[in-house]
Amino acid sequence: MSPRARTIEGLLRTLVALGERAIAHVRRLPAVPPEHAQPKSPLPKPLERVLAARGLRLYTHQVEALEALRAGANVMLVTPTASGKTLAFNLAVLERLYHDPEATALYIYPLKALTQDQLSVLKRLEAETGIELGAAVYDGDTPQHLRPRIRESARIVLTNPHALHQYLPWHHKWRRFFKNLTFVVLDEAHAYRGVFGSNVALLLRRFRRLVERYGARPQFVLASATLANPAEHGRALTGLDFRVIARSGAPQGERVFVFWDSARLDESPHRQASALLAQGVRAGFQTLCFAYSRKLAELIALWAKEQLPPSQRGLVTAYRAGYLPEERREIERQLRDGELRGVAATTALELGIDVGELDVVIIAGYPGTVISTWQMAGRAGRRGRPALVVLLGFENPLDQYFMRHPDAFFERPHEHAIVDLENPYIVAGHAMCAAAELPLQPERDRRYFGPGLPRALAALAREGLIEKTPAGYVYRGPARPTDVVSLESLSERAVRVLDEDGELLETLELRRAYDEAHPGAVLLHRGETYVVEALDLERGVARVAKRDVEHYTDALRTVALGVRRVLHREKAPWGGTLGLAEVDVVERFFAYRVRRYDKTLGLHELNLPPLEFETVALVLTLPEALRERVEGEGLDWAGGLHAAEHAMIAMTPFHALCDRWDLGGLSTPYHPDTGAASIFIYDGHPGGIGIAEKALQLFDGLARTTRELVRDCPCEAGCPSCIYSPKCGNNNEPLDKRAALLILNALTSNSDGVKDEG
Ligand SMILES: [Zn+2]
Ligand SMILES: [Zn+2]
Repeated sequence: MSPRARTIEGLLRTLVALGERAIAHVRRLPAVPPEHAQPKSPLPKPLERVLAARGLRLYTHQVEALEALRAGANVMLVTPTASGKTLAFNLAVLERLYHDPEATALYIYPLKALTQDQLSVLKRLEAETGIELGAAVYDGDTPQHLRPRIRESARIVLTNPHALHQYLPWHHKWRRFFKNLTFVVLDEAHAYRGVFGSNVALLLRRFRRLVERYGARPQFVLASATLANPAEHGRALTGLDFRVIARSGAPQGERVFVFWDSARLDESPHRQASALLAQGVRAGFQTLCFAYSRKLAELIALWAKEQLPPSQRGLVTAYRAGYLPEERREIERQLRDGELRGVAATTALELGIDVGELDVVIIAGYPGTVISTWQMAGRAGRRGRPALVVLLGFENPLDQYFMRHPDAFFERPHEHAIVDLENPYIVAGHAMCAAAELPLQPERDRRYFGPGLPRALAALAREGLIEKTPAGYVYRGPARPTDVVSLESLSERAVRVLDEDGELLETLELRRAYDEAHPGAVLLHRGETYVVEALDLERGVARVAKRDVEHYTDALRTVALGVRRVLHREKAPWGGTLGLAEVDVVERFFAYRVRRYDKTLGLHELNLPPLEFETVALVLTLPEALRERVEGEGLDWAGGLHAAEHAMIAMTPFHALCDRWDLGGLSTPYHPDTGAASIFIYDGHPGGIGIAEKALQLFDGLARTTRELVRDCPCEAGCPSCIYSPKCGNNNEPLDKRAALLILNALTSNSDGVKDEG
């Protein structure tokens, strides 16, 4: 190979030669030099020594965080991946623990693997500084005989929310640790969103209530990927105010981003990904390709090998969650040592696993959030070397939106994390747990659990689950409440997914189970495919078997919806109204479609009882005048409403951290409860978890980007990249793209200028 091809620019030229038509955009992000700073007063000597020995100078954001924490603030760090966030909060924590021999700190990570990584970081710091930390992981894997010692003597405990949820009832055993608690670190705080995040937010209220009873007022440190609403998110999660630190002083190597639109070439997108992987390896670069499922990772690796000369085939492999730990460690080592040159991986590799720095990262399909895209891209060029990132877009609305609007990806963050503190099921679940931990007094404890507390208590008392005593409400139910309340779901109606050995794979909300775990469904779990053999609604169990299949399934549903209560309604500039309502939804899952890539292989009937729930919807009504205009142009009014609804649902995850599945919609030329042509977009979680409220708050931006999506799609009459929905129960009929565009033009008529959508 020519030496010229060994530069990133050389590789870029090779890619252009490979498929110039597919290249939608190339963006060069220049190298950024570091910005250093000094703490106002020096760190304790042992910490200074470690920094000097490691040759580390602090970056501006690390010093800013240290000073804010020294001053007693709660701090939220939202600088990029690999900018040294961990060191920033570890310095502040270690300094405090050094000065105060009683002080303790709690570190919470969303995943067990991350706790282990952080434990080794802390152990190394302890060895190097001589500051006694007694850091220990305390979770379901901690051996029983070690637990009392950890509770009695550890100064830093690392855990995860599920473990914390289980251990809070035993708070009296944690008296020493809680009493002296000075810091609570929540790393990967962006992971706490949606149903899980809302549960964690209430878990943290339970935790704060107990810790404060022991007299502690710990400072919180949140580290998170970049969000559009960091301060709001921090406050929602913990109930506290945060000093947000977003400007990074860490250096960054030069990066070239290529937006590769696979829909513009004839080959399948995964074939294209394999060609890119092979090209990277052939040019001498360590290349990593992310794929949606394990099957696809395997295929991409296999196809890439076929395109390489025999001598290079051994340099490429697949990596996935299902491999044995030893196999995975071996692949990780070979990657770090540079023995392996090309890997196709599932997103199991996304977080926390150290594979060293890579030269090229290919992301086969937009992973659903800008956060994960940057995290995957962050795998490339960590040591300041130039790197290439290819985002390979598929034929669906979000992927195509980014292909056509690359600025939207590089602009300031636009995704809002959603946490809802008022979902009645979640509040009731945690109120029940709290009553078991310490008697609940509605007046005193309102400040933790919010205005929904009295209603939750009344409901629990009616069911005999709690009882009023002079000390407050106490738990009287038969089971351990922490076993009943799951952090992953709205506890009311959850389905447990069990594999052939009866092992629990995951817990799904009922609606998600209808969607993904009906009999015959192909369920994707951590990149592995499972076929669902039975869904027992009575017992709340889905039985699945691991199968290597190449097809996938889409459940189809029809929707009926009635307005129960209008929460908000305003006159809208387009002559209709914009608002929010509590609605009763009935979804009928009547069939599922089996597909392989883009081909439909068959349609199968489903026999499930209708799913009924109450939730919150965004409600738009449209005036007669608009109908007349649309019909005056010979277009289909109902088809326009329906297409606008699909496109709006597809674009919502661009603004709020949720996925398409979290939403449902209904559009109709006349709805009896509004008396007008209406589009409803509802939260798919019983009781709602704040998505509809967020959609209302960000409505101008949502309408604008939806219009851009539909307007800029080159198709004539609508396609899977704009207005088709894979879940449509009406078989994507009627749909009228031009009518939808007229409607979307009307919805954005007052926000064409530069408008801040937050
Ligand atoms: Zn289209
Ligand atoms: Zn539809």
